[in-house]
This record gives sequence, structure tokens and C-alpha cells, in this order.
Amino acid sequence: MKKIRKCCVIVLLVVLFPANIFAQERRDKEQTYVLENPYEVNKITPLQGKKIKNVVLMIGDGMSLMHVYSAWTANCGKLFLDNCQAVGLSKTYCANKLITDSGAGGTAIATGQKTNYHSVGVDVEGRPLKSLVDFAVGKGKSAGIAVTCRLWDATPADFCCHNKDRDAEAEIVADYVNSNVDYVFGGGAKLFENREDGRDLFKELRDKGFQTPRSWDELVKIKSGKVFAVPYPVDAPLPDERGDLLARASLKGIELLSQNDNGFFMMIEGSQLDDYGHFNDINLLMQETHDFDRTIGAIYEWAAKDGETLVVVTADHETGGLTLVDGDLKEGKIVCKFSTGGHSGVMVPVYAFGPGAQEFTGIYENTAIFDKIKKLLNL
Ligand SMILES: [Zn+2]
Repeated sequence: MKKIRKCCVIVLLVVLFPANIFAQERRDKEQTYVLENPYEVNKITPLQGKKIKNVVLMIGDGMSLMHVYSAWTANCGKLFLDNCQAVGLSKTYCANKLITDSGAGGTAIATGQKTNYHSVGVDVEGRPLKSLVDFAVGKGKSAGIAVTCRLWDATPADFCCHNKDRDAEAEIVADYVNSNVDYVFGGGAKLFENREDGRDLFKELRDKGFQTPRSWDELVKIKSGKVFAVPYPVDAPLPDERGDLLARASLKGIELLSQNDNGFFMMIEGSQLDDYGHFNDINLLMQETHDFDRTIGAIYEWAAKDGETLVVVTADHETGGLTLVDGDLKEGKIVCKFSTGGHSGVMVPVYAFGPGAQEFTGIYENTAIFDKIKKLLNL
């Protein structure tokens, strides 16, 4: 009888928290990953001495130096990130916790203020904060975001929405209608329509002048104007199924935003490094990290040609307590362990490329990333 009850509890737990249960099984065990087809990486050098007109901020959610070094090893000793010109370290703790989440971590980068755990785009009193999106648009620039996760997830919301509880998903999504953003690409259509409050957010966005393509094919046809693209009910497909979607969606955003002669600010997120870190799944985590690195390569290429675009790559915090314990550079093999199913406390890297890159050297608070971008863009 006791055995049956125990079985029932386990079955119930697996049903309720499948990722957590599997993550627990994987925790502290060595996981081996070999990248079957390493990708080529070319040298990309930006033009020197030009002024800064645009900033592309790229956030690998949960990406630490260990993720980058593991991905570098698996790709046989090369990454597009290696083209960066300056490196710094960011302290990620939030207002009321040592180990932050994407809500408070991303809010610090987006708004320049440390806030409480689980807050998005608000201060410790719950008051709305202006983000780099708002400051850029306030100065006549355009602003956009591109992510592969659902749009109520904390990182995109940190830049466009305001809520002291990141779990208030329906409220957060409705806040996009009030955002100053000009281009959005992400998942999460299911909370934009058929809502409990009866609102059709796609219609409200169209009334505000947005085009609302619901597929990649619809999006590519758009050549100008404001765009709010949500092709997926929740998240975009897994990295090996979606191909170079993040790079394409980001470059599409840049194509539209760069039509503004005053320049633009764009945030691009490698969204699911965090999810796969929580799952303690090295296979998916490396796929996502390599996808993010190839997206970085595509953005570096564009920025190098443009010459007036600064690209900053960083993270909001570390996820999984990832450790590389063995591997082989020639074989592209890594042996890793995870120490937690949550986030860990460690400074995260900041990589800068293009005009103004040298401003990002040193050790600083995560809020300084906001300060530096605001100053460099004269916002
Ligand atoms: Zn997380």
C-alpha cells in the first residue's frame, strides 16, 4: 500500500514538474556532449573611429563564462564571440536577493535600477521604470526586441512592460500595447487572443499602427513600419528545428529599425539557455548557446559593415551552476556537471564590439550596462 502511494506521488510529481524531476536525476552527474558538425567562424573587424548611432544589446539568459567556454570547446576552439574587442564583468545580485532572476536581472540592464526578485520593469516600490526602449524612442530613435521565448517571459518584459510579479502573465502581455517599441518578434500568441478579459491584443496593436504578422512568411513581406510579430502560441521551436530563426528575426528587425535616420536600439535574447540550464540538459543547452553565438556572428557582420553600431553581449545571471570537468578540443567533446536546477551567484561576462567597446572593460554593477549605453547613445 505504502509502495503504491509512493508511486502515485512520483507519477504526480513527474506530471506536474517533469523538467524538474529529470533535472534532479541529471544533477551532479557527468554529461558528455560532442558537437557533430562544428561550424566555421570568420574574423570580423568593425570600422574604427566612427560615431555611435545604434546599439544592439544581446542577452544570453543564464549564460556564464562556463557556458561560453563549454560552447567554445565543443565547437573545436572557435566562437563568433571571440571577435569582440573588450570584455567586462557584471555583478548580478538584485535589491532583495543575492541570487537574482531574469525579472530583476534584466530590469537592472534595461532601466539602470536594481529591483526586487521577480519584478519586471518596476522599482522596489512597484513604480514603473523607463527602459532603454523608452529612452531611445524619446530621443527620436527606433527600438525593437527579438526573442525566441513567450513574450510574457521576464527578459523581453523587462524592456517593454511593468509588473512587480513576473507571474502575472496575462497582465504583462497586455502591457505591450502601451510600450514604445517599434519592432517585436517573439512567441506567446495564446495570451494575445482568446483572453479571459475578452481583449484582442493583436487588434489593439493594429489600432496603434502595428502590423501583426503571424508567420515568418507574412513577416518577410513587410518592408517598413511598426511590426509586432508573434508566430508561435508559446515558445519558438527547439534550436535544431527552427534553424537560424533568431538571426533572421533579428536582422529583419534591424532592416526595419535602421530606416530611421536617428538610429535605433535593439535587444536580442538567446532566450532558452536559461530553460535548458534549469533542465540540466547539456545537449539542448549547447544547441541554444551555439545558436546564440551564430546569431552574434550575424549581428557582428552587420555592425562591422555599418560602422556606427555598438554590439554588447551579456547575461542577466547564471543558470544551472554549470561546470566543465573534462573534454577534448580536437574532438569537440565536453564533459559537464550541473550543481543546481536554479540560478547561481557568479559575475557574468560583458562582451563589446564596435565603437565605444572599450567603455565596457572592468568590473561593475549590472546597472552600469544601462548607464554606459544611455551615455554612449546620448539618451
Ligand atoms: Zn531562470
